[in-house]
Amino acid sequence: MRYSSYFIPTQKEVPADAEIISHQLMVRAGMIRKLTSGIYTYLPVGLRSIRKVENIVREEMNRAGAIEVLMPAVQPAELWQESGRWEYYGRELLRFKDRHDRDACMGPTHEEVITDLVRKEIHSYKQMPINLYQIQTKFRDEIRPRFGIMRGREFIMKDAYSFDVDEAGANRSYEAMYEAYDRIFQRCGLKFRAVEADSGTIGGSYSHEFMVLAESGEDRIVNCTACDYAANLERAEVKEEDASLPDANDFEPLAREDTPDRRTIEEVTAFLNIGSEQLVKTLVYMVDEGPVAVLIRGDHELNDAKLKNALDAQTVEMASERLVEEATGAPLGFAGPVGLKIKVVADNAVKSMENFVVGGNEKDLHLRNVNLGRDFKPSLFDDLRTIAPGDACPRCGGPIAFGRGIEVGHVFKLGVKYSEAMKAVFLNEQGKEIPTIMGCYGIGIGRTVAAAIEQNHDKDGIVFPIPVAPFEVTILPLQMHNEPVVEAASGIYGDLMDMGIDVLLDDRDERAGIKFKDADLLGIPVRITVGSRGLKNGEVEVKLRSEPDSFTVPLEGAAAAISDTVKGLYDSLK
Ligand code: ATP
Ligand code: MG
Repeated sequence: MRYSSYFIPTQKEVPADAEIISHQLMVRAGMIRKLTSGIYTYLPVGLRSIRKVENIVREEMNRAGAIEVLMPAVQPAELWQESGRWEYYGRELLRFKDRHDRDACMGPTHEEVITDLVRKEIHSYKQMPINLYQIQTKFRDEIRPRFGIMRGREFIMKDAYSFDVDEAGANRSYEAMYEAYDRIFQRCGLKFRAVEADSGTIGGSYSHEFMVLAESGEDRIVNCTACDYAANLERAEVKEEDASLPDANDFEPLAREDTPDRRTIEEVTAFLNIGSEQLVKTLVYMVDEGPVAVLIRGDHELNDAKLKNALDAQTVEMASERLVEEATGAPLGFAGPVGLKIKVVADNAVKSMENFVVGGNEKDLHLRNVNLGRDFKPSLFDDLRTIAPGDACPRCGGPIAFGRGIEVGHVFKLGVKYSEAMKAVFLNEQGKEIPTIMGCYGIGIGRTVAAAIEQNHDKDGIVFPIPVAPFEVTILPLQMHNEPVVEAASGIYGDLMDMGIDVLLDDRDERAGIKFKDADLLGIPVRITVGSRGLKNGEVEVKLRSEPDSFTVPLEGAAAAISDTVKGLYDSLK
């Protein structure tokens, strides 16, 4: 590509809404432009990077035996009604009516469409296993679109769906995708980690997220420093302590404590002069339609996802002030489990506590020396809190570390959730009709490009890993009016193109400083500088974007030497 006739609108200004560096650099490097909130045009340079990631994804999906299809963006409501998601997917689903008043939506994901296809086309165990994938534009009306194409409303996703005859087959399909994802993100040159994850609204029983490690990441992840356990913070299990259970002989008499206007943990513990680990907070939640009191030790955090799983609920949300009053008879801040009429569940850590403090279900009242069994009994104990610094690894008991990541991919075991609801059944070897076992597997293509930038940049711009770079090599002829310079640069340009290398020739009639600045901003991994001074010695200069120092190669055979350098960059990622 010749820069002068290409379209790379680089800019100095950083848009006001660009909070993170990848967003800023993608706009400055002329990769993307915003149309409206969360909706972007991919400019040529951005599109090249997107296509690079798509190609890696496609190659690895094909290698893993998945088969490419392309499904529609518009989906009829009936399918979503059948799966049951029309009701509860919420406002992220962009719904509309067509001219015949039929409900439809823009696809945020394609479980319904693919299940509909498979139930119509696949009827026998002989047609499985099969894994169908697409690289397609999704729409999700995200509540907070931000970070450029990292969290857009319209974005490109690779989504794959596997169909198996039995559990063992489904596990093999999952493993194959897990391994393909490992190869994909490795090939993209990213530092990443697969973590155990919660399955969220898509449902299913088991999943891993592939996280690109970055401080700006929205996801918090936990990993063990001693074994290979890693999980999304939301999901990370808390190891139940072997602490001894309380002894009834140590129970002190229950006592009422006036706590005028002391509602928060800080206010109550300061007033009663106790540590927060001596208090149990009572949180009233609406679980599906009914109120539930959840007990958590004062210094711990309730984890909504765990609560939802423990109660096998569709929705859990904190009760409104009015509902709390209705359920406990007291204003907010004084709820407690003693004498409470609603269901009470407790986190495991509460089990070993004794003589603790809770709210008294009366205004300005708390209770001291409360004890399990004697004063109340939860209907369930479970792991309901979020793991915290100081907790041990749930697998090996080793020390854990906290970090941040960007979720670029997700693999799920779906089981029969969709095949049962939508009757995607087949005849097995015994002639019995059973639902097919599904898995689904997503990768955010644009988000992967943004994550690569988030992880690879410096003060001058992007430092692309070569597989994701829009061009592998850029050639900067420093004097456009010097014929030998222009000729040498064009010669190398032609040779590199013949070798199948993606090369950008900066043939603009611009000052050298501008060319260097733009090359750095764009982050092209290999830069060739052709100048009259070097040519006098029969040399051109080669500089890697990732290295501070340059070196020279003879003009004679320069393209072959550069091609070796390019190959070396790919090899270093293996
Ligand atoms: P998140 O938790 O970030 O919202 P998700 O769990 O909703 O992600 P999935 O439904 O698993 O995401 O979608 C598969 C992949 O699509 C994600 O791993 C991510 O890379 C990408 N993705 C999801 N939402 C967006 C978005 N709004 N913009 C860009 N990419 C996205
Ligand atoms: Mg989401």
